[in-house]
Amino acid sequence: MTHPPGTVVYDKNHPFLARLVERRRLSKPGSEKDTQHFVVDVSGSGLTYKCGDSLGIYAANDAAQVDAVIQGLGLEGDEPVTPPKATETCSLREALLTRFSLAQPTKKTLQAFHDHTTGADERAHLHNLLHNTAPAELQEYLEQREYIDLIEEYPGARFGAQAFIELLRKLQPRLYSIASSPVVHPYHIHLTVAVVRYETNGRARLGVCSTHLGERVPLHEPVLPVFLSNSHFGLPEDGARDIILVGPGTGIAPFRAFAQERVAQGAAGRMWVLVLETLEHARRRGARIYCELVGYASTCDAYHITSPDPGGAGLAKALRKALKDARLEPQQIDYINAHGTSTPYNDKFETMAVKSVFGDYAPKIPMSSTKSMTGHLLGAAGGIEAAICVKAIETGEVPPTINLEEPDLPDCDLDYVPNVKRTHKVQAALSSNLGFGGHNAVVVFKAL
Ligand SMILES: Cc1cc2nc3c(=O)[nH]c(=O)nc-3n(C[C@H](O)[C@H](O)[C@H](O)COP(=O)(O)OP(=O)(O)OC[C@H]3O[C@@H](n4cnc5c(N)ncnc54)[C@H](O)[C@@H]3O)c2cc1C
Repeated sequence: MTHPPGTVVYDKNHPFLARLVERRRLSKPGSEKDTQHFVVDVSGSGLTYKCGDSLGIYAANDAAQVDAVIQGLGLEGDEPVTPPKATETCSLREALLTRFSLAQPTKKTLQAFHDHTTGADERAHLHNLLHNTAPAELQEYLEQREYIDLIEEYPGARFGAQAFIELLRKLQPRLYSIASSPVVHPYHIHLTVAVVRYETNGRARLGVCSTHLGERVPLHEPVLPVFLSNSHFGLPEDGARDIILVGPGTGIAPFRAFAQERVAQGAAGRMWVLVLETLEHARRRGARIYCELVGYASTCDAYHITSPDPGGAGLAKALRKALKDARLEPQQIDYINAHGTSTPYNDKFETMAVKSVFGDYAPKIPMSSTKSMTGHLLGAAGGIEAAICVKAIETGEVPPTINLEEPDLPDCDLDYVPNVKRTHKVQAALSSNLGFGGHNAVVVFKAL
């Protein structure tokens, strides 16, 4: 990032006050989700972004919630407080609006309510919670509550303004993947945000930042503190490369940016996005449907950070659960896309897991490792391998395990489709995936 001499360099500690200039609901009426499109104007900031970067946003809590907390504490809101590590004071109301989280009280919070209450019954109840409640139950109690719940449940607990803010955690900025390309919109940053609303303890809750953007930030006013968070996640330099966009973990937003940039640059490479939607929705909009995702299961054997558990019991459990979820018998699976990392442990234990679930039928199922061709794509591997299963169903061709000249007999004795693709009718295909820490995940696809 370059700035003319003397200009401010905005970052996490010195955010730029941007303008929200557009807010538009993308979800259709009646949808369970509320996904919105936002445009943030950063003109004049000197901030330059690239596809794959994220925008950091400092949000404010809902004012009505802050007022309820102040009232519940029996305070006025104009009491001066000094946030920890700050040198300047601000009002309690300002601190609760912008500096502290009013969610996720902890055991320490309960202890403070215990110590500050004047009510004997409340103190006894809190003592019981803290000392005679099973950890899982206490955890659930806390997960169901925010600070306002505790204030209302224990009205005898009295705190001064300063003592109260010292209980709270700092309100952290939230990151959002940028959904636009700087080639097209150099001064406007687009975001695609799922607005978080849910209910706990019988009360409606608001995700702080997503509802701040979705409901509270006034349009066209320079009041939204933002900064850029750079990423190594981006487009290949060579625009002629084909790309498949799968599972960034943060939704569709960065893919929109990538697509916008490639179109703007006239990149020759093709692009695919893996999209899952309900069958009814796909049918309603007349989509070309490749197949149906009919089963999913995951387990965690937590055996070792990198090794699967000996014998593949964890994976076998995930395979069984996924077949059950898919309502398919082992004999109905026509192709397995193996995790297939080609490590001696993986290949031996994955083979054992498949044999233990598929029994005599195991050697009859073509089971290939496409990592032999793609390499290990780590977090993206599951998505690509799911797409390969879908293509096997569509084309009736099973991809090979390349460079397989000498199978590790006797441990690896299944049909790994060596070196050459095979024509084979695939009605149902399964992809198995193993992750660090003992995670096992299986998805099952079926032709319609
Ligand atoms: C690099 C990166 C990029 C991201 N990009 C995007 C993006 O492009 N779009 C996007 O929408 N988000 C994105 N996120 C997520 C985003 O940063 C926020 O986490 C998200 O918007 C929620 O923040 P919030 O302040 O609205 O909710 P918060 O106030 O943080 O509340 C969320 C919390 O509420 C609780 N909660 C939520 N739902 C329930 C429920 N049903 N039951 C009980 N408790 C629940 C959970 O504790 C959860 O952690 C990204 C995150 C990262 C790290």
